[in-house]
Amino acid sequence: MPELPEVETTLRAIKKFQGQSLTSIKVHNRNLRWAVAKGLEKNSRNQKLINLHRRAKYIIFELENTFLLLHLGMSGSLRILKSEDNYFLKHDHIEFIFDNEKIIYNDPRRFGSLHMTKDINNHKLISQLGPEPLSENFNGEYLLDCCKRSKTNIKTLIMNQKNVVGIGNIYASESLYLSRINPQKESQKLDIEECRRIVSSAKKVLSEAIKVGGTTLKDFYSADGSPGYFKIRLNVYGRNDQKCKNCEEEILKVTINQRATFYCPNCQS
Ligand SMILES: [Zn+2]
Repeated sequence: MPELPEVETTLRAIKKFQGQSLTSIKVHNRNLRWAVAKGLEKNSRNQKLINLHRRAKYIIFELENTFLLLHLGMSGSLRILKSEDNYFLKHDHIEFIFDNEKIIYNDPRRFGSLHMTKDINNHKLISQLGPEPLSENFNGEYLLDCCKRSKTNIKTLIMNQKNVVGIGNIYASESLYLSRINPQKESQKLDIEECRRIVSSAKKVLSEAIKVGGTTLKDFYSADGSPGYFKIRLNVYGRNDQKCKNCEEEILKVTINQRATFYCPNCQS
């Protein structure tokens, strides 16, 4: 599944379309996770793309009259073609056509979505989201506040999009390892110092993944633009029964909230 770093890299790859005119949108298959609204093509025709940004894992196209929200789902990806090119791949569902080039949305499993709204901040998919992990609003004091109100473990808490967006399963295990916190620890038992460690570790892990992603930008011009998972250096994820890189204890695998979780029982408490 594309995680926040992959979506951020995707955004950077298409950022050059900001300021250009969106000539038209062609929808070849409306049956995504939610059906694409019927009036979407008509309402977005011949409009300037004023701004292009990301909120959580949504790519937001700010047009003159409306906003478009694109989610890549489990298997979605974007690639860029010349406007006149007509070599399509299986699962190419949507074309965003500009003057010289176009953005193609491909999604084999069709868990992605495209919504249109006039009021982006109150949209049902956006209004409940917590702060961006790389923003100043996600800090130790904020996380401690979330922990005090929580009855769950810390891994489940940081993966809940209402608390903070964009910390997916792999990044949660990796961030907690770096901060030396056991993923099963009750959130209420964390102190401010531990919360600060988790925040700085999560920012570090996500920033590193975005940095690695920058090197894959050229792939957006090739036939298959699928960025997949960035190959960040993993310390614990998928390393059960192998030795901890810090203390040589065996890495354990447990299931938390139905998700595979990896940690070192010696380094993380
Ligand atoms: Zn260890």
